[in-house]
Amino acid sequence: MSKSYDLIVIGGGSGGIATARRAAQHGASVALIEGQRLGGTCVNVGCVPKKVMWHAAQLGEVFHDGPEYGFDIDGWRHDWSRLVANREQYIRRLNGIYERNLEKDGIDLIRGWGKLDGPHHVLVDGDRLEAKRILIATGGKPKRPDIPGAELGLDSDGFFALDQCPPTIAVVGSGYIAVELAGMLKGLGAEVTLIARKDALLREFDAMLGEGLVEAYQQMGIDILFETEVTRLHRTELGVEAELSRGEPRAFSQVLWAIGREPMTADLGLDSAGVRLDTQQQIITDGWQATDCESVFAVGDVTGRAQLTPVAIAAGRRLADRLWGGQEDRCLNYDTIPTVVFTHPPIGTVGYSEAHARVEYGDAVKVYTSNFRALYYGVLERKIQSRFKLVCVGKEEKVIGVHCFGPGADELLQGFAVAVKMGATKRDFDDTVAIHPTSAEELVTMR
Ligand code: FAD
Ligand code: NDP
Repeated sequence: MSKSYDLIVIGGGSGGIATARRAAQHGASVALIEGQRLGGTCVNVGCVPKKVMWHAAQLGEVFHDGPEYGFDIDGWRHDWSRLVANREQYIRRLNGIYERNLEKDGIDLIRGWGKLDGPHHVLVDGDRLEAKRILIATGGKPKRPDIPGAELGLDSDGFFALDQCPPTIAVVGSGYIAVELAGMLKGLGAEVTLIARKDALLREFDAMLGEGLVEAYQQMGIDILFETEVTRLHRTELGVEAELSRGEPRAFSQVLWAIGREPMTADLGLDSAGVRLDTQQQIITDGWQATDCESVFAVGDVTGRAQLTPVAIAAGRRLADRLWGGQEDRCLNYDTIPTVVFTHPPIGTVGYSEAHARVEYGDAVKVYTSNFRALYYGVLERKIQSRFKLVCVGKEEKVIGVHCFGPGADELLQGFAVAVKMGATKRDFDDTVAIHPTSAEELVTMR
């Protein structure tokens, strides 16, 4: 007879593993079902390999700048396949660590594809498992456009499978993945064309960030085509030819789609438990991660809310604390989530954009900005302009948005996100003594 659990988790990515482990640590009996490699998108084809590639591209910049800093490093070259081999070895180590952590917490790991069979049962490879509660944490996968030849393009999963740097590549999209991968590819030697269907990049964020990025990327030699759509792909001897909504067709070694992700909700048997989806096929959850079925919960990308690893983890851990840890009010507040876009240089942003703040608070909004060149560029011929902004509201000038583009923006943001979360005012920022010479000091010296 099949075992019965307190919790069955479908999906062993960021959200699923975090929830399973926290529930087990509170004493729940837990099984976790995973159809692919443990760790999910983040570990295998997301944050982790992405950050390794970002570091590599940053190093490329350092080598480029080296001579002006007095280093003789003539003739350096980059071996993409060696980087990929080392990156994948690191990821395999992480896969093993995740498996051992599940074992340590007494969680049954079941390899296979899970599917609901009513509110308390899951089917996996012919077995029917029972649980008091079920968590869906199946994440998402890259989208492709509905155009002829779309299958000839790569998606972000395909990017991580590349065994060499494509000499020329078109990156289609304007969100996180498009701008991150475009920057990395350029830094590692590809000729990059970024194709955006609208007139700006990163339109979800404060406009200053996208503007700063366009300036920097054009300076780096990335060709950006705005208000352009790819309408068809053809295979050619050397790669792929893209027909465009404007201008002549263009030929590339590769085309990469980075136009968003879709949730993994097909074939999950959700109807059998009465779990409803929204129009984007994402699982509808309330503030407690509850679905329409009392015994079924969902966290992470599959719910479509702030698709970030720490969000999936935080939602899952809070859910487990509430259901098995006796912490009745524990749930994730999705407001004020900080995020970094790993461009070159990076973007760090938290809270209201200026435009959003003005819609909500009108004339009560006051904005402070600083455009400057980080000291790193002082001795270099190439100069990238950093752009920082504080969005404040009310007489007390509560800081409700911090937006940074420039070297160091990635690491400096976390601390400022704490300040915003705590309700800090501009005066609190001003009263904090600057750390010199850094880029971060701009945020406490704005006038
Ligand atoms: P996932 O991590 O996707 O895990 C879902 C798991 O469920 C997968 O392992 C899948 O195989 C499994 N699964 C699906 N269906 C079934 C089934 N029926 N049965 C069994 N198993 C199943 N976020 C950040 O915070 N920072 C970053 O820098 C960052 N970079 C990213 C870069 C890229 C290229 C991408 C694509 C994403 C990035 N993200 C980043 C987003 C982050 O990866 C996701 O938000 C996060 O992984 C979501 O976690 P999850 O648990 O919801 O889903
Ligand atoms: P995003 O949602 O960030 O961006 C996709 C963008 O592509 C859209 O906003 C849209 O922008 C454009 N787009 C949509 N459809 C088309 C189309 N048919 N043709 C051309 N462009 C189109 O999705 P990503 O795939 O970049 O990333 C998915 C998610 O993964 C992110 O939202 C983020 O949550 C997460 N992620 C996080 C990272 C991090 O934390 N650093 C890094 C990578 C991913 P427009 O309307 O302007 O055209």
